[in-house]
Amino acid sequence: MSLAGLGRNWGRIGARLAVAGFLALAPAFAAEAGQVNDLNELVRQLEADLRAGDAAAENDAMSTGALGTGPVPMAPGTPPGAGGAGVTSIRLGDHGDQTRFVMEFAGENLADYRIFTLADPYRVVIDIKGVPFNLAETPAVKSLGVVTGYRYGRFEADTWRVVIDTGQPVEVARNFVLDPQSGFGRRVVLDLAPTDMASFMRTAGLPEGAPDTAAAAAAELAAVAAVPISPPAQRIERRRIVVIDPGHGGVDPGALGRSGVKEKNVTLAFARQFAEELRATGRYDVHLTRDSDIFIPLRERVTIARRKQADLFISVHADAIQRPDVRGLSVYTLSETASDAEAAALARKENQSDLIAGLDLQGETPEVTGILIDLAQRETKNYSSRFARSLVDYASRSTKTLDPAHRFAGFVVLKAPDVPSVLVELGFLTNHEDEKLLTSSTWRASMAKTMTRAVDRYFGDRMAEMAN
Ligand SMILES: [Zn+2]
Repeated sequence: MSLAGLGRNWGRIGARLAVAGFLALAPAFAAEAGQVNDLNELVRQLEADLRAGDAAAENDAMSTGALGTGPVPMAPGTPPGAGGAGVTSIRLGDHGDQTRFVMEFAGENLADYRIFTLADPYRVVIDIKGVPFNLAETPAVKSLGVVTGYRYGRFEADTWRVVIDTGQPVEVARNFVLDPQSGFGRRVVLDLAPTDMASFMRTAGLPEGAPDTAAAAAAELAAVAAVPISPPAQRIERRRIVVIDPGHGGVDPGALGRSGVKEKNVTLAFARQFAEELRATGRYDVHLTRDSDIFIPLRERVTIARRKQADLFISVHADAIQRPDVRGLSVYTLSETASDAEAAALARKENQSDLIAGLDLQGETPEVTGILIDLAQRETKNYSSRFARSLVDYASRSTKTLDPAHRFAGFVVLKAPDVPSVLVELGFLTNHEDEKLLTSSTWRASMAKTMTRAVDRYFGDRMAEMAN
């Protein structure tokens, strides 16, 4: 790709101005873009940075959270040029009134990145385009200074995203790129400093050119409206279509097990197995909302189900809670009034996914309303509950279930007006036995068979009704 060509689109290079613009990872690019003033600023920062000590010493300091404490056995990322390109390491450093966030890259490939901030909750988002994340090890320190935590993962096909939670308004006081040296690869460095709410709000928001959530929501509504709403009972004649939705993914790992197992991987492995099992019957067309480790917004999952004209939508999740003794499978269907406090809390947690991934939900449009939808929805809820009961019935014969196992709450992902939808929590990753089951291919295979029987039963019953 041509740097000069991209430069026309990016425009803004430099420290504070970098917010809301895509930057090239190579500082040399700034000169090509003709941003002389900003380049000078960048060079000043780089020089100041290098004066503070050589880059390696600074990185050591960052990894310990203290300056000048001598060498620390922190493995640097893949040396430049060796191995594939990608982000190989993330580090946090405490620099007094600022918190430093460093991403190290391997290889000489250029990558584009952009930085922006979002409010409610306070987040700093970094998008990296064109190179993957290949972290050698899970970063040990995940909160320091103004940073209360962060996560990363694939956000779109060629974009990876880091979302940094800050717990308070912050400004990106500086951001710059360090060239490879002293055994370290190229680094993108952000210095975050506390700021007041008013200043934060002045710069917060999606960068120019990023998909606007309000526009996306409107487009989605249009897309949903384009699929005619037909009550489920009228669609029984054709071959059944089942959409399986592996929960979370990419930048949103979902729940975490005690041994570090991630919900997003557990749900994807199960969904694939379940799909295979359903297809093997020859009775179903099966689609997955995602078949890789990528982030999909909640509403997009609903849209996929509707576009595929699904007869059944099954969202697969795994939970995690404080009490390690709690275990068992549960099935949720949509209700504005939650069946109990735990169901309400769970729905709140699952509905956070878009926030966790750094989507700006301001301007989010309300649900489609209308008499036709209300009617379809009532019928849909009925069928959803029937399938949930069938699922609980079959699952409880072969695995531990919560009591009660069928619960209700306002999950965003269950809101298709005309697709019977359930959300299955396979179990608790925080429970030792459940975690063992959920990560076992044997259990996955047997539970996929069990759930296939429940699906058979559900459609079998409906066929019988049609015949009468
Ligand atoms: Zn989940």
